[in-house]
Amino acid sequence: MKKEAGKNAPLTSRFPFSLALADKHRFVVTLELVPGREASGRSVDTVTSIARDAFADGRISAVSITDNPGGNPSLSPDVLGHDIFEIGMDVIVHFTCRDMNRIGMESRALQLAMMGMKNILALGGDYSGKGFGGQGAPVFDLDSVQLQIMLGLLSERINASGDPDTFFTGCAVSPFKRTEAECYAQYAKLCRKAAAGAQFAITQLGYDAEKFKELLQITKVMGIHLPLLGSVYVLRPKVAALIHGGNVPGAVVTDALLERVQKEWKDPASGREAAIERAARLCAVLKGLGYAGVHIGGVHRSFDIAGRILDRFALIEDQWPDFLQDFDFPQPAGFYAFSRELDEGAPHALFGQSPPKINFVERLRYGLLRRAHDTFFDATHPLGPVYRKGARLIDTMPGGRRLMYLVEDIPKRALLHCQKCGDCAVQHVGFLCPESQCPKHIRNGACGGSRNGRCEVFPDRPCVWVRAYRRLVRGNKTREITEGCVPPRMWELNNTSAWLNFHLQRDHQGSSNELSRRCRMIGCRL
Ligand code: SF4
Repeated sequence: MKKEAGKNAPLTSRFPFSLALADKHRFVVTLELVPGREASGRSVDTVTSIARDAFADGRISAVSITDNPGGNPSLSPDVLGHDIFEIGMDVIVHFTCRDMNRIGMESRALQLAMMGMKNILALGGDYSGKGFGGQGAPVFDLDSVQLQIMLGLLSERINASGDPDTFFTGCAVSPFKRTEAECYAQYAKLCRKAAAGAQFAITQLGYDAEKFKELLQITKVMGIHLPLLGSVYVLRPKVAALIHGGNVPGAVVTDALLERVQKEWKDPASGREAAIERAARLCAVLKGLGYAGVHIGGVHRSFDIAGRILDRFALIEDQWPDFLQDFDFPQPAGFYAFSRELDEGAPHALFGQSPPKINFVERLRYGLLRRAHDTFFDATHPLGPVYRKGARLIDTMPGGRRLMYLVEDIPKRALLHCQKCGDCAVQHVGFLCPESQCPKHIRNGACGGSRNGRCEVFPDRPCVWVRAYRRLVRGNKTREITEGCVPPRMWELNNTSAWLNFHLQRDHQGSSNELSRRCRMIGCRL
């Protein structure tokens, strides 16, 4: 028996998620499923039966299937998703950059296209966790912005081969960052993802209605028209404690919320009811605020709990303003991009109002590197033709390339911990090295995993994008980390002189490959 939820029409056969999202009268509901680490048996049966029940229920537009969540191995979302797809349920495949290089990623995308599974949630991915025999090698060859572009280019090829059905790609965003720099980095990256072709965005998990509002406002300021799905989770005390302790990258549970959840679950039956009520109320708030839909997670045993959330949501959705107070869990000294008083009209984002201080050494390094860059590595510098001529001469001299490589290494190792990638990108990261300073080697903005300004992987270090923002905000140069898209690192230049490569237009700035060209055409503003 199919149930009605608000204006959602019941579905009788597969209704594409992309069409559901395009229907302005439909509030879209997606359900996140997490495969286990087995190829058959209980975990597979459970996920498949939840998907089957979700399809029979009719209120879920698509199930999304995670890709080695937490960086730990699990059954491939492609194969499990295909089984679910065959039931008739539309599927969103999570596609991360962590486990494959660009060759493997393209091959996987082609395979998904051939299977007809073209809804992709393009993600950077949590850092590598433990697999067979220990910690897995982190790949991160492309980042999530470059992945969007790759999928867009593959869509064009799919079209050219006569298939009108292209990839329908989405991205993730977290409005729940505590510091100004992280908020800026998140929104700047969202801007890039949208410009790179993302067609929807799903938020990370958080319980702060002001932050959900902020995301809607910032997309208006950036001129982005992207349907947003807010994450809703069935919050149990164990997961709440894990998130609170920083063990689920990007998700936020504050002290006050953890305390409340633990109190609610003193009696498990009432705890379960409270979790369902909280999830239903958050669905109502998100719909009321103007989100295009919700992405429900935390349903691991049976569809029943998701069905109960949606039943309750249908009953209470009109009361959403009363529920805003239930999602008032700010982080201590947390940054908000808009003042509450400026909610109406045309709000202005409050970035850069009180730039943080940076220490003397950081200022000195940044000043030195910027001056060197502006003098020697600005293609429009008056001496540019002279540098090019000199570079050409050195490049053709016997031992010239090797000599330049060794000379360059001395200052760059001292100032940047240079890893000699040969395709320098420090100018896109506030004159910090994305290879040595970012464990995911991201060239297009922060991942979702930073916490309190610290790196997801090395919590004792500040996130490199936070450092970049702090360096740039004083001089009003933050546009340098938002403009355009940085092409992927050119591995063919590994262990060569980045200085020669720049002047001889061999690096990503001069490359004519299709991904680099498309990257350079992208524009966004924050
Ligand atoms: S981006 Fe590459 S060349 Fe530039 S400092 Fe880092 S490793 Fe060295």
